[in-house]
Amino acid sequence: MIKQRTSHTVNIGTISIGGNFPIAIQSMTNTPTENVKETSQQILDLNAAGAQIVRITINDIKAALAVPKIIEIVRKKSSVPLVGDFHFNGNLLLQKVPECAQLLDKYRINPGNADNKNFREMCEIALKNQKPIRIGVNSGSLDQKILNKLTEKNIKTKSSEEIFVEAMIASCLTSAKLAESIGLNKNQIVLSGKVSQTQQMIAVYEALAQKSDYALHLGLTEAGSGESGIIQSTSALSILLQQGIGDTFRVSLTPTPKSSRTKEVEVAQMILQSLELKHFRPKVISCPGCGRTSGDYFQKLTQCVNKKIDQELTRWKTKYPGIENLKIAVMGCVVNGPGESTHCDIGISLPGRGENFAVVFQDGKKLCNLKGNDIEEKFLKILEDYIKEKYKD
Ligand code: SF4
Repeated sequence: MIKQRTSHTVNIGTISIGGNFPIAIQSMTNTPTENVKETSQQILDLNAAGAQIVRITINDIKAALAVPKIIEIVRKKSSVPLVGDFHFNGNLLLQKVPECAQLLDKYRINPGNADNKNFREMCEIALKNQKPIRIGVNSGSLDQKILNKLTEKNIKTKSSEEIFVEAMIASCLTSAKLAESIGLNKNQIVLSGKVSQTQQMIAVYEALAQKSDYALHLGLTEAGSGESGIIQSTSALSILLQQGIGDTFRVSLTPTPKSSRTKEVEVAQMILQSLELKHFRPKVISCPGCGRTSGDYFQKLTQCVNKKIDQELTRWKTKYPGIENLKIAVMGCVVNGPGESTHCDIGISLPGRGENFAVVFQDGKKLCNLKGNDIEEKFLKILEDYIKEKYKD
């Protein structure tokens, strides 16, 4: 059962989070922001892949000056909200380049890297421009004063890990109170407390959700790369999302050299789809194989159905609204094949022994038998016809 998320709605450009709005997927560019062409293109690529909010680093004057040019290019094709990521000198950059302050849809402020003056002035600029902020606390740059104070107070009674988690939470909440005292309201504040350890991350966000009702941006920072990064992010995020914690999130993956930045967006979509919070593509339920399968045809058939979805998805989404909810079963034998196939919209069940016969099920009933060496082509044709009929306008 999903609990109610924060009641506060935060408007970030064309997107709203919190309240009853769906959880939004975020990503962040990794191009030098001053490179207007590359940064604009990566923002568009991330948005096309499914990122609903994109963050860009604004670390120096060149980056701040590039913002109006980037936004001019991006706005020709997309209304994706853009967030400026500020640290040590955010106040100065926003003061020197007021267009940057006006055009960005949100500012991220890291209280661990912004002294009191910087934090206050950034909040004042946000207030003047009516922009929301994210108070983004990060384990790698946690405010040492808060950590030292809590360590001194609790060293005899709590573990260093518990104290660290408390310091993350304290940094988020005291900064949020400071932002409110400057004039921002709860509808203009998003909190994040990102750490790189899954259990710590869960503890930080569970506590933030219990102790406050600000909108929350989830993320396991520096999650790693490849399967390890994906699994760690998925584990931590799923536990929180299932409890109704989180209004927006980013999967922070280290890309392998030359790989696409959009991988983290795909993973974020898969997390939401696997939790059935939102569907992005037809689901394929497929048999893992066991001693009952005499060959690898079920694997090839699964691969070919997934390939068909990859190739056709963009066209199908335009032509067949709701296609992302389709469920397809590709099963290896009679033990679970007919059952899983009838639970899906459409399914194919192989016999387990011999690969030139299969039974197709549609809408819970047997549709036909397929025989011969072209089962794959025949099934894909049936699938295409089924989609045309089921999702016709
Ligand atoms: S469907 Fe059949 S072949 Fe596939 S894992 Fe289950 S029992 Fe094994």
